[in-house]
Amino acid sequence: AIVDSSNLIDSLNAAQREAVTAPCGRTLVLAGAGSGKTRVLTHRAAWLLQAEEASAYSILAVTFTNKAAAEMRGRIAGLVGIAAGGMWIGTFHGLAHRLLRLHWREAGLPQHFQILDAEDQRRLIRRTLRNLEIDESRWPPRQIQGFINARKDEGRRPEALEPHDAYSEQMRQLYRAYEEACRAGGGLVDFAELLLRCYELLRHQPALLEHYRRRFRHILVDEFQDTNRIQYEWLRLLAGSESDVFIVGDDDQSIYGWRGAQVENMQRLQRDEPSTRVLRLEQNYRSTRTILAAANALIARNSRRLGKHLWTEGAAGEPIAVYAAFSEQDEARFVVERIRSLIESEGYARSDCAILYRSNAQSRAFEETLFGREIPYRVYGGLRFFERAEIKDALAYLRLLVNRNDDASFERVINTPPRGIGVKTLDALRSQARQRQTSLWQAAGELLRAGALSGRAARATTAFIELIDRLSGPLAEPALAARIEVVLAQCGLHEHYAKDRSERGLDRLENLDELISAARTFEQAREPTDDEADSLTAFLAHAALEAGEVQAGEQDDGVQLMTLHSAKGLEFPVVFLVGLEEGLFPHRMALDEPGRLEEERRLCYVGITRARQRLLLSFAERRRLHGQDHYGTASRFLLELPTELVQEVRARFSVTRPQTKVHAVEPMVTADTAAFSLGQRVRHATFGEGIVLSCEGSGPNTRVQVNFAHSGSKWLVAAYANLKPC
Ligand code: ATP
Ligand code: MG
Repeated sequence: AIVDSSNLIDSLNAAQREAVTAPCGRTLVLAGAGSGKTRVLTHRAAWLLQAEEASAYSILAVTFTNKAAAEMRGRIAGLVGIAAGGMWIGTFHGLAHRLLRLHWREAGLPQHFQILDAEDQRRLIRRTLRNLEIDESRWPPRQIQGFINARKDEGRRPEALEPHDAYSEQMRQLYRAYEEACRAGGGLVDFAELLLRCYELLRHQPALLEHYRRRFRHILVDEFQDTNRIQYEWLRLLAGSESDVFIVGDDDQSIYGWRGAQVENMQRLQRDEPSTRVLRLEQNYRSTRTILAAANALIARNSRRLGKHLWTEGAAGEPIAVYAAFSEQDEARFVVERIRSLIESEGYARSDCAILYRSNAQSRAFEETLFGREIPYRVYGGLRFFERAEIKDALAYLRLLVNRNDDASFERVINTPPRGIGVKTLDALRSQARQRQTSLWQAAGELLRAGALSGRAARATTAFIELIDRLSGPLAEPALAARIEVVLAQCGLHEHYAKDRSERGLDRLENLDELISAARTFEQAREPTDDEADSLTAFLAHAALEAGEVQAGEQDDGVQLMTLHSAKGLEFPVVFLVGLEEGLFPHRMALDEPGRLEEERRLCYVGITRARQRLLLSFAERRRLHGQDHYGTASRFLLELPTELVQEVRARFSVTRPQTKVHAVEPMVTADTAAFSLGQRVRHATFGEGIVLSCEGSGPNTRVQVNFAHSGSKWLVAAYANLKPC
């Protein structure tokens, strides 16, 4: 190579350099957390561009999230000093979607095919069951959804199944009926379908396959341990025997087995492609020696590992802090206080701190406490922006504009906002559609023409149909954002939510506005040459596919909250790994199954290895989850950490252990910093003497229940009540 590439590899160690500059062919980098896999992958792409003079068009990189894809694009551009424009970088789903958009005809899809997210998919299954008059309680839609997606992930259509009993025969029938419903709905494509369809597209179109094989000379894959069967086959198909394939992964971080990922793909690859060169990276650059030692000790308890040895030159760092909280509020209070002191006295930024938890529901206590202390934060995952009800309503209108036969959208908005179309009318539409094998839209037209609807229902239905026709007519605004604004105003959604003066109503209005700005941002960022779809169709696909990871309207420089699953691949200077209780983490469902327990342990390994400098662990003795109190014991994962690495943290306040199990006493301070305990005698200026029955909350929010001798039981805010011990 003529270009000086030394700067590219200068910042790498010998093993990393060997990987980055490996000759073209099949390379698998198998290495533990924080050893530079993602860095190596990025440098490899830059190296190909610079030293091997590869064209950006010849590179296809698969990452696990869209966020990671954007980061990788930026990094590569930074390394080689040019825009990484022609490269295809994205998730499996994103890339498959892109191919299907380009080749919708060959894939047997209508041009404006729509993507179904998980909720849309479930609704469609529910409707299919209703049409077949099958009892939902005996055939739960969620179960059918799981079945269908699992078969698709294995690459199997209904025809390829071999039912061995009545149950599996029925499942197969439902799978087939669901496929038919997708087709009849104007080409609806769920997430699993994206992958399978794209695989079949390449498989059945040799010319197309040949074209892409010749184009993508270089294929790079991050987080390979979490690929499922169809993704694996898709990769192999696309790679053929000629392409240069560079794969990185860590079997110890395989955490999506429950969703069909197959860590065996790592061994399968070596079997299927015996020429695969396997390289290992052993030096960790991310974490302190203490954190790394804890991670190594934990994961060593798993069996069936490919085996790795990770070390670091880094400093020992701080011991790992463990806090035993009374309750989830106490846990949140501890975490937030710590964050505050790390920011105030140690100079950390808010965004340096991450709170990681096993399940989304756990974020609430932290959010409330952060909110109460006015510390900005940002939650990833959870109910994503595009999954909120008002946004889905708005999107349903937009989808109907593109495709009148989208029954799910039709049902969603025909009476939202209310326009006097009742259940009876809807039932009439449904049965007409069923009899005539048409969409609800067509059925509505037929019933109206036949005069089969009553006066009021007929007027309302006509108005709805005219509204949709008008909105998609030639008068509509050409610019996407402006067009959406018009739709929201005219369909009545905006007005509908404006009537609701509560916080919730306001929230919804703001979200609708946010949708308009999301459309504007999308339109500006879009590469117009990309594919043939119009901007509305492209935006709808974006809404279903991509935008879930980032939430609109939240602080950039805030404390970061996310589940352990979504923390994969990321790193933070300070990590709080919370909720370490048996039954919560490891999850209750995993306790009796060794395989799943090991997956939980890998998840814990992922969590620990996100931390660079500080790691703080916590668990709560009492936790309210899904409306029930749970009394937890410390997670086995805590006990599996070497004691010399761990230090227990005491609460700052004097602690009174609960007398009874039901009412745990929060440590607390009042105006004169005295702590209360259950059963304590106190005096109030107005109410006189009484006995403390229970406490709730912490800090300035603490409320105390006191049973006063003369005025009975009362809840008081401790900060104002000025209670004196007596
Ligand atoms: P994970 O398994 O969690 O995805 P990874 O193996 O992909 O981790 P990276 O994220 O690539 O690891 O790297 C971890 C950290 O170490 C990053 O901050 C990266 O910049 C840094 N790093 C990696 N290699 C080196 C190196 N040779 N010199 C300095 N820093 C490095
Ligand atoms: Mg990585």
